[in-house]
Amino acid sequence: MSSLPLVAIVGRPNVGKSTLFNRIIGQRRAIVEDLPGTTRDRLYGEAEWGGIRFGLFDTGGLLSEEEIQASTQREISKATREQAELALEQADLILFLVDASAGLTAGDWEVAELLRRSTKPVLLVANKAESRERQLDAVQFYELGLGDPITVSAAHGVGVGDLLDEIVRRLPRVEPPLEVDQPKIAIVGRPNVGKSALLNAILGQPRQIVSPVPGTTRDAVDTQIVWKGQPVTLIDTAGIRRPGRIERGVERYSVMRARRAIERCDAAILVVDASEPYTAQDQHVAGAILDARKGVVVAVNKWDLFQHMEGAEEAYREEAQETFDFMPWAPLVFTSALTGLNIEQVMDLALLVVAERSRRIPTAELNRLLRDAVQRHPPPSKPGKWVKFYYATQAGVNPPTFVFFCRNADGVHFSYKRYLENTIRREYGFIGTPIELIFRERS
Ligand code: GDP
Ligand code: GDP
Repeated sequence: MSSLPLVAIVGRPNVGKSTLFNRIIGQRRAIVEDLPGTTRDRLYGEAEWGGIRFGLFDTGGLLSEEEIQASTQREISKATREQAELALEQADLILFLVDASAGLTAGDWEVAELLRRSTKPVLLVANKAESRERQLDAVQFYELGLGDPITVSAAHGVGVGDLLDEIVRRLPRVEPPLEVDQPKIAIVGRPNVGKSALLNAILGQPRQIVSPVPGTTRDAVDTQIVWKGQPVTLIDTAGIRRPGRIERGVERYSVMRARRAIERCDAAILVVDASEPYTAQDQHVAGAILDARKGVVVAVNKWDLFQHMEGAEEAYREEAQETFDFMPWAPLVFTSALTGLNIEQVMDLALLVVAERSRRIPTAELNRLLRDAVQRHPPPSKPGKWVKFYYATQAGVNPPTFVFFCRNADGVHFSYKRYLENTIRREYGFIGTPIELIFRERS
């Protein structure tokens, strides 16, 4: 997903953006819906046409129906403009959707003006053109100065194939990855927690050789550093901030931006703000790291504000354990980007996590561990469904993946899987990374 080119649909409300989005994405679930607790809005999905994959954004999803209902015309056009700006900032190709049944409107002109000023490629798409008459009418949109309109009917599926042909023809060629084997660390978190400050603090460490990476990606800035002799890529996603009413939409956007950076990294430094209570967004970003099965170190930043308070660390640790209880293996570091507190530690730890993710446990050792574990605590089984473990092997790394061959694999209880995971972690650590346990039938 990381290297997928990004296409954004913009246009004033009601032109059919979400209809077109659904038409192109089809039955695939939008990625956003996988995040626990996020909005149900369909915002981002992935599509493939002629063997070429791309990500698709519906910027209309940034405003909810109720928000549109409650808005004045001026607010709506402002929001539409801001959505177009966001799309310009993020996307590789913009689909500017207009409504052939409504004809040219002032709102269309406003968006067109913005788009004309940018260097990003734009496809002008006239929707609701299901009849021959409407298709002919659509030529009026040529006036917008964005080329010939492509006519479609998103609702009826007319012309969408031709549109997809055009889309994939205009997409930039995906750049090959810059460096294959060097660790990539993403700095993620919700806006204002101190991501930029932390990055600067890392770059400001002594013995740092920093070089910018040419051809930086769309939504994150890569910085090449050499950390204690080891080349490392830092992926920074410093938040975009816009004042005003679409702040909520921007917050959602920044989770997606984080998600894309996470996909490219080996381990993420999840920055949280010690001076503010945890929010759902902290959890969403953490959830995205977990979904991608990447490593993580939690940097509890702005700790300069609490450092000298008695018992602060213990109290905070407890709270963090609750908030991120779905990844109890994630280490916590108390940092201050301002004073430099533990900046070296957080980098060291992130690199340790990367190393942990590629560790391999010899099969013989693993099976000794399994035998002992089973002896200590035999797996509970239902009568007639005896669970018996034969052997285990580590099938992969990044994340470490273990396959257990057993009889009645279906009957291995969740709590027993947890027990085996804990046993492996107690012995081998695997600090900061998810590990995967797979149970295979073998009679
Ligand atoms: P959005 O606000 O831009 O996301 O617009 P929607 O996708 O919600 O569509 C607005 C309205 O236009 C809905 O009532 C759709 O059913 C309708 N609509 C969308 N596409 C077409 C189309 O191709 N033809 C016709 N006639 N109506 C459409
Ligand atoms: P980002 O949006 O996550 O990139 O956050 P910034 O790096 O822009 O920081 C947001 C605000 O928090 C700025 O005003 C910073 O000066 C402040 N800040 C960042 N790190 C620290 C820290 O370690 N301690 C304190 N006290 N303030 C910090």
